[in-house]
Amino acid sequence: MRVSQLFNKTLKEDPAEAEIISHSLLIRSGMIRKLAPGVFSYLPLGWKVLNKISNIIREEMNRSSCQELMMPIIQPKELWEQSGRWFVYGKELIRLKDRHGKEYCLSPTHEEVITTLVKNEIKSYKDLPLNLYQIQNKYRDEVRPRFGLIRSREFLMKDGYSFNQNEESLNQTYEEMYNAYSRIFTRCGLDFRTVDADSGAIGGSSSHEFMVLAETGEAALTICKSCDYAANMEMAVHKKRKYENGIEAKLEKVITPDKKSIEEVSQFLNINPDLMLKTLIYKAVFPENEKLVCVVVRGNRAVNEIKLKNAVNSIDLILADNEEVIKATNIPIGFIGPIGLSNIDIYVDEEVMDVKNGSTGALKKDYHYIGVNAERDFPKNSIIGDFHNVDEFDVCNKCGEQLYFKRGTEVGQVFKLGKKYSEKLDCKFLDDKGVSQNVTMGCYGIGVGRTMAASVEQNHDGNGIIWPKSIAPYHVIIIPVNMKNIEIIEIAEDLYENLLKENIEVLLDDTDERAGVKFANADLIGYPIKIVIGSKTLKSKTVDFKIRSTNEEFNVPLEEAIEMTKRILQ
Ligand code: ATP
Ligand code: MG
Repeated sequence: MRVSQLFNKTLKEDPAEAEIISHSLLIRSGMIRKLAPGVFSYLPLGWKVLNKISNIIREEMNRSSCQELMMPIIQPKELWEQSGRWFVYGKELIRLKDRHGKEYCLSPTHEEVITTLVKNEIKSYKDLPLNLYQIQNKYRDEVRPRFGLIRSREFLMKDGYSFNQNEESLNQTYEEMYNAYSRIFTRCGLDFRTVDADSGAIGGSSSHEFMVLAETGEAALTICKSCDYAANMEMAVHKKRKYENGIEAKLEKVITPDKKSIEEVSQFLNINPDLMLKTLIYKAVFPENEKLVCVVVRGNRAVNEIKLKNAVNSIDLILADNEEVIKATNIPIGFIGPIGLSNIDIYVDEEVMDVKNGSTGALKKDYHYIGVNAERDFPKNSIIGDFHNVDEFDVCNKCGEQLYFKRGTEVGQVFKLGKKYSEKLDCKFLDDKGVSQNVTMGCYGIGVGRTMAASVEQNHDGNGIIWPKSIAPYHVIIIPVNMKNIEIIEIAEDLYENLLKENIEVLLDDTDERAGVKFANADLIGYPIKIVIGSKTLKSKTVDFKIRSTNEEFNVPLEEAIEMTKRILQ
């Protein structure tokens, strides 16, 4: 391709709306353009990168006996009602009506459609296992579309679904997909980690996320310094921490005028914050109704809302405000506690149960309990579980070493769905004894655009993008420095034709721009190799190679240029 014919305009300035570097560089290099918030056009260079990532995905999927198909984006409401997700998906689901008033949605994911498709095609265990995937646009009306291709509302996703006879077969497919995903992200040149993950709205029993480490990442990761343990903060666990729990004492109500926060009460009563029992009230949203729930953690801990939401089994969980709490309990927030609290389900963090001489709100304005023994004093029907966040004082549950925290961007996720969708949508097969059973499913997703953006987050410098060879839009750009010199042009044209004959992905910058502008554009777009044809070429029959990733520069005899290019690209 000739740069003079390429549909590509670069920008000098950072776009105002870009908060992170990948967003800015993808726009400045002319790879993407915004149409509406979270909705983008992919221009030829950007589309080439996306296709390269898609093709890596295809190769690795096909290698793993996964077959490509294509399903509709427009999906009828009935299917989503059958799975119970028409409501669960909430405002993220983009809904529409046809001219007859029939309701549809734009697919955010395809469990409903593929399960219905497969159920009508399979009969017996002989049809299983079956593993299918597609690469297609997905639609999610995100609360905050931002960061360009990282969190958009229309985005390209590879989504795959497996149908297995049983758990054992699912485990096998899951492992194959896990390994294929590792190969895909390695081939895309990403520095990534896999972490234990929450399965969120998709559901199911077990899940892993593929995370690209990046300071701008939206996910908090907990990682062990020593062993391979890594988990999304939403799921992270730690070795049981030892606390000074105090000596058994009598439960007493004491006055704590105007002292509401943990720090205030802890100072006022001279009680260690670890022994202050923090009580929070949340509003849990269910398909049919809403209700308040109460959670108790130690004063030094933060509530992990995902763990709590999973235990409550609600669609959403929102911290209740003072007004809602007073309406339901007649008590202001700072003085709430579990002892004597009725009509509200109480979730107690497992760490709280060891407390012998703690303090908590006494359900009366300006009063707290002291001498609290959770085991002895809390309502007996309290639900006990892990509802707190891991923090920097925790150690690894596997090996006892220090845990640390990093931020990451999720580029892929694999889930064991089990029978969640096959039961709801009635997807069955006859097993080898002729008994009808629900299929066991897995699902596997990769954000193609997000992978592209994550690669830019990891591979750039002050001049622009540094594409790994595997996903670069073109591998080589030939830059003739003086377009007025016929000899230079002829050599450049000749080299261009010969590289094309060798099937090398090459661009010729035949524009009239100054050499400086050509270099700046090539660096901004991030081609791995620049070959410079200039006066040196005329004098000594040599060309300059410049390698984008290492900044190396070297001079090569013109007749060796093709061989050198091939060697670098190998
Ligand atoms: P997130 O937690 O970031 O919202 P998710 O867990 O809801 O993502 P999945 O349902 O697992 O996403 O979708 C599979 C993949 O699709 C994700 O791993 C991610 O790479 C990509 N993806 C999800 N949401 C978006 C989005 N809004 N914009 C771009 N890519 C996305
Ligand atoms: Mg996910």
